[in-house]
Amino acid sequence: MIVPLFWGFVLLAVAGAAVLHVLGVPADTSAEFWFSILIGPAAVSAIVAVIWSLRRGFRWLSTWKRCPHGIMGGVVRSKCPVCVEQRKREEEKKREEQEERTRKARISADSEKLCQEESERLYREQLADLRRLRDMDPLEFELVVCRMFEKLGYRVEHTPFTNDGGKDALMWRNGTKCVLECKRYREGNHVGRPELQKFFAAMKEERASWGVFVTTSSFTDTAKEYSKKSGLELVDGEGLAQLMEQVYPGTPTNCVRAMCPDCGEVVAFSASGDETIVLCSRGHVVPRPIVRPRPPHDAIEKPHHPRRHQRRYAFHRQ
Ligand SMILES: [Zn+2]
Ligand SMILES: [Zn+2]
Repeated sequence: MIVPLFWGFVLLAVAGAAVLHVLGVPADTSAEFWFSILIGPAAVSAIVAVIWSLRRGFRWLSTWKRCPHGIMGGVVRSKCPVCVEQRKREEEKKREEQEERTRKARISADSEKLCQEESERLYREQLADLRRLRDMDPLEFELVVCRMFEKLGYRVEHTPFTNDGGKDALMWRNGTKCVLECKRYREGNHVGRPELQKFFAAMKEERASWGVFVTTSSFTDTAKEYSKKSGLELVDGEGLAQLMEQVYPGTPTNCVRAMCPDCGEVVAFSASGDETIVLCSRGHVVPRPIVRPRPPHDAIEKPHHPRRHQRRYAFHRQ
């Protein structure tokens, strides 16, 4: 800080002395020494002021430039009506383009949202479809059933997928504990008495009051008999589809909705049809959306450690 100041001072003094020398003033008294110091900054300021004025002057002159129609100051000083009109049009166009971009962005966001809604809706509709449940990956099936019981008002603790000890989840309702077992079986693959006995043992081990055994197939007669004695509740494929329908109500609409990318109108494609485009009421082309059934983003969770997977619900058994 001190060093540049010092050199600045020296420079100014030298400049001042040089100016005095040019003016022919001898610099041999102390008054003239101080005068030489003052005249340095003055000379620098004068040069800066001249440069600044010249720039301002040139700028001012440029505003009087002739427009293509030969009028001085036509564009910048709005002296030419044609140029003024043209500039207005350009500004208008720019604003319209900006509005159009905003509109398109909004339609695009809405369209994406609609697509997601449709994906989740299709997924829910398929849950009520037993064939779809039978095709599910076993873990996904477990999670879907857990989610269903949560929707029915249970507090559900999904147990780790491997080594589950004959139960897939622990559930609570009104303070009573029950165990859940899910078996995703093909149609003809019935659940028999031995499987229920194993499940009953798991229930006792957990000191649960009762248990629910869910399957996509059905139970053998001996299994049904056994369940009556042991206090196990059985949910077969049909019952499961009914519960799913209860949890995810809504009749299948058999169509897929999509949004017109031009005007945002919602059009419908038949779910099974093969039309690749549909025209909206304004005649815009709407391409068929790619909608894949997808679980709602909160529905499928990775298996957690049981203690971290606790949720509270008030539930009343029907
Ligand atoms: Zn002009
Ligand atoms: Zn349209």
